[in-house]
Amino acid sequence: MAILEIQHATKRFGGFTAIDQVSLAVEAGSTHAIIGPNGAGKTTLFNLVSGLISPDEGSVRFQGIPLAKMKEHEIVQIGMARSFQKVNVFPRSSCAENVQVALIAHTALKYSPFRDASKLFRSEAEALLDLVNLQADADRRAGELAYGKQKQLELAVALAAEPKMLLLDEPTAGMSIAETKSSIKLIKEIVQKKGLTLLFTEHDMEVVFGIATTISMLHHGKIITTGAPDDVRNNEEVKRIYLGKN
Ligand code: ADP
Ligand code: MG
Repeated sequence: MAILEIQHATKRFGGFTAIDQVSLAVEAGSTHAIIGPNGAGKTTLFNLVSGLISPDEGSVRFQGIPLAKMKEHEIVQIGMARSFQKVNVFPRSSCAENVQVALIAHTALKYSPFRDASKLFRSEAEALLDLVNLQADADRRAGELAYGKQKQLELAVALAAEPKMLLLDEPTAGMSIAETKSSIKLIKEIVQKKGLTLLFTEHDMEVVFGIATTISMLHHGKIITTGAPDDVRNNEEVKRIYLGKN
């Protein structure tokens, strides 16, 4: 069963077509990678799926629900969470506070002057920090963390919304080889533990072929092919594009 269905989606920026008649189904429980050269349209596709921008044509359905008239936070409420290509944490707040804010936003709990805000969801936040191996950093400012750890924190923030599906845009971009390895291991574990559907973009082919169950190749805004890793690896057009003869 497809948890996400994109049908004939097109997105133009002025006269430039960034996403061109894309149709794509993401199966529930799959780990689905979107690959493609820089500028292929991967981030734009993620922005369409997460409701940051609307398609000029076509539709996106998540769990059968059309996203056309939904706001970003409503899409999060029905079970989709995402990370961004650039780090997106509150740098001056502690790690625990970053996750607590996400938990509070998710439960739409209003601040009460009769409760100590610093204790709200503290134990839940600690549990999520534990899950992303940041238990020891709960009280450190997010901005003081190494880049790889900030990405782990983002993951905890995304998980605070109790998503069914996680969208990760270039989760290992800017990471060292060691950070990439441990980050992928962590993502894999969390996806399994929580039974999540994962849609991600990634430039590192080793990472892609290490974890994806399905791969789609995007090029000039069009889906070239979707299939099992071995089929995509052996696809002539994919090889041609990655050899740079496009
Ligand atoms: P990728 O993530 O695959 O590198 P993007 O989705 O970021 O690709 O970009 C696809 C193309 O769309 C690029 O040529 C980019 O310059 C263009 N683009 C993306 N966002 C905008 C925008 N807001 N306005 C104009 N052009 C954009
Ligand atoms: Mg991108």
